Amino acid sequence: MNRTLVVVAHADDETLWCGGYLIAHPGTDVLCASIPRNDPQRILDFFDACAVLTANGIVCGKNEAMQDVTAAQVYASTYERIITHNRYGEYGHKLHKKLHHAMLDLKKELLVFGYGIAVGEPIDYERKLRALSCYTTRPRVLANQQRRFDLSRECLLGENE
Ligand SMILES: [Zn+2]
Repeated sequence: MNRTLVVVAHADDETLWCGGYLIAHPGTDVLCASIPRNDPQRILDFFDACAVLTANGIVCGKNEAMQDVTAAQVYASTYERIITHNRYGEYGHKLHKKLHHAMLDLKKELLVFGYGIAVGEPIDYERKLRALSCYTTRPRVLANQQRRFDLSRECLLGENE
């Protein structure tokens, strides 16, 4: 059994917030808890991005509006350590927060994305950018995040830190 599971609300969150971690820890399982109704291509791109990141992509969502938190909880309950969204949903995203609380309820070791905190270890940024480029339907969103934050830095925080 794999010890660590990365759980994200949307395809691309894994690359944006812990792509460097995934590259540094090959074979990590990544659970995406939604399938975007209006952009199903994004879930196909998720598997391409996971291949670049050397991660195992898993999808257990219905669609974005009906994000299936229960299914994600059941799946995540078999892992010892979970890495997911922080309590602020990074930039306040409702579904990020919802998933955070669902994972917190499992009472496992929990690490959260240190969104926008540029104190992390150096990462393989070139490969992270290659994974981001798999998301062909969202060039503007990704360019926006790159402008707002230094995506070449990542850190994970213990939930109680
Ligand atoms: Zn998201």
